[in-house]
Amino acid sequence: SKSALPIESLDSLSMKSFPLCMRQLHEQLRSVHHLRHGGRLQYGLYLKGIGVTLEDSLRFWRDEFTKMMELDKFEKSYAYNVRYNYAKEGSKKNYSPFTCLRIINETVGPGDCHGCPYRHCDVAVNDIVDMAKKGHFQIACSRYFDAVHNSDLGLGINHPNQFFEESQKIVK
Ligand code: SF4
Repeated sequence: SKSALPIESLDSLSMKSFPLCMRQLHEQLRSVHHLRHGGRLQYGLYLKGIGVTLEDSLRFWRDEFTKMMELDKFEKSYAYNVRYNYAKEGSKKNYSPFTCLRIINETVGPGDCHGCPYRHCDVAVNDIVDMAKKGHFQIACSRYFDAVHNSDLGLGINHPNQFFEESQKIVK
């Protein structure tokens, strides 16, 4: 099993090793101190998958959300969802982090930040955009991987956590 990943490193990791779908959720959370349900689920499960513990996850979400709401409200309305992602509430099903296919097929409404940016947003880097426009979202993601790592791997990306793990092999 993996060692625990410290939440203090998430800002730098998000730039170096996160796929764009997770990087944009991280940046949105840091800037507005809130994510809507779809974003909390997508990002929360991903964080579990990269090795953030339940305790650290609670601290991470609490620290951000309480910048714009009372602690009481966080505990009542949001802490449950964090524990739920870690199978500590409800059906106690051990949810897996979402695959690319699942994320690409998400329904994304106005104000939502989850989903796959190559499908759901206007991204802006030529060759990457070309692929995204043609509907090759995961190839666009692979091009993005090579762009941020200055590599030429042409990986097949099927899962955000795979993106992270491949990145960590390079940046470590
Ligand atoms: Fe995330 Fe997959 Fe889209 Fe890449 S292709 S941004 S890993 S959902």
